[in-house]
Amino acid sequence: MRYYSTNGNSPTASLKDAVIRGLAPDRGLYMPERIKPMPKAFFEDMPGMDFKDIAQAVAASFFGEDIEAEALERIVRGTLSFDTPAVKVTDSIYSLELFHGPTLAFKDVGARFMARLLSYFNEGNDKVVNVLVATSGDTGSAVANGFLGVEGVRVFVLYPKGRVSPIQECQFTTLGQNITALEIDGNFDDCQALVKSAFMDEELRSRMYLTSANSINVARFLPQSFYYFHGVAQMQKKGLGDNLVVCVPSGNFGNICSALFAVKMGLPVKRMIAANNLNDVFFQYLKTGVYTPRPSIQTLANAMDVGDPSNFARIIDLYKGDWDAIRSFISGAVVDDDTILSTIRDCFNENGYLLDPHGACGFRALSDSLKEGESGLFCETAHPAKFLSTVEKATGAKVEIPERLAAFMKGEKKSVPLGKAYEGFREFLMES
Ligand SMILES: *Cc1c(COP(=O)(O)O)cnc(C)c1O
Repeated sequence: MRYYSTNGNSPTASLKDAVIRGLAPDRGLYMPERIKPMPKAFFEDMPGMDFKDIAQAVAASFFGEDIEAEALERIVRGTLSFDTPAVKVTDSIYSLELFHGPTLAFKDVGARFMARLLSYFNEGNDKVVNVLVATSGDTGSAVANGFLGVEGVRVFVLYPKGRVSPIQECQFTTLGQNITALEIDGNFDDCQALVKSAFMDEELRSRMYLTSANSINVARFLPQSFYYFHGVAQMQKKGLGDNLVVCVPSGNFGNICSALFAVKMGLPVKRMIAANNLNDVFFQYLKTGVYTPRPSIQTLANAMDVGDPSNFARIIDLYKGDWDAIRSFISGAVVDDDTILSTIRDCFNENGYLLDPHGACGFRALSDSLKEGESGLFCETAHPAKFLSTVEKATGAKVEIPERLAAFMKGEKKSVPLGKAYEGFREFLMES
């Protein structure tokens, strides 16, 4: 399979090149040339299949031409060491719990897949691959943990100073080994801009092998489609598969983009909702047809504090820029901080289900939008214990911290403070 750039000014790339480059030379995002619909027989069998078998069939459709079946199976099975159960919240609304991985957020799926794919492509190569990743909270920990101890790979995590929760921070600053945390004096968009500048820096690239593990990387965002198939299968099994509405709390729009790919492959979803916090540029786009990026602002759902979602370009490409087609399938919602808190509180009191601030945006948007005869599935993208103070403030109840999360908090924080100007970052990379 060849991959083309959304900007249309780069040659097509192999999967290997697309994964190693991350961003195309013209700064566009790579897209697979074809999205093959899954066969009818697959959909007939899907409700009875387990997660790994579903994922393997979907993975083969994307990557089967480029990776031998056995290696791909190993990569998929190694990635999915945990389940993504659909858990009942109300009679018609289920939570697709994506936080059962090692860092308790959905990004574990993409990060673990990408780490395995990269080390597969780098086998027998003695050059070190440097992975640069900008994080608004959860990407850093998922990528750092996905790559921890992987030979021939070094990871640099750039995160905005003071804008990630203490628990998130310790998940990537305490690891050591091949992981370096860079504390940037700026916001998430500044971190992302630094990473993008490094990729455009030909001189730097000639000195070191650079790759990106942000959701711009095809190896990170495409595997996320696996759990949408599994999620729909679970809803079908419960008799709730018809008129299904899927809601994705969105920041950089990689997660929802993978769901849109699944839909293009034939996954039966009636419509989708992109839930935003106050960073609502996509919501405004749906309303006006005009895309106006702006600086991100800080909210309680900090992993969605994105002012210029990088995967917007993929959505436009997928729908050939047809605004009407986009908004007839995807609707938007904006959930402010007060509503996040009241939603966490009310959902806990009324349904006994504890949401995290991101899942709260999803649940809220879905509850407000669901019509008679529809059922809904929203992504619970992180474990509530990762946002302890917010969640405890909302409910007034103590939250139990899972063991694998508590383990991170015992380590010693180590990070390198850097400004947001590119020069300093460049110098640091050159010297490291
Ligand atoms: C990253 C993240 C999001 C946003 O996902 P995108 O793919 O960037 O849209 C939502 N919730 C949590 C918990 C996250 O970590």
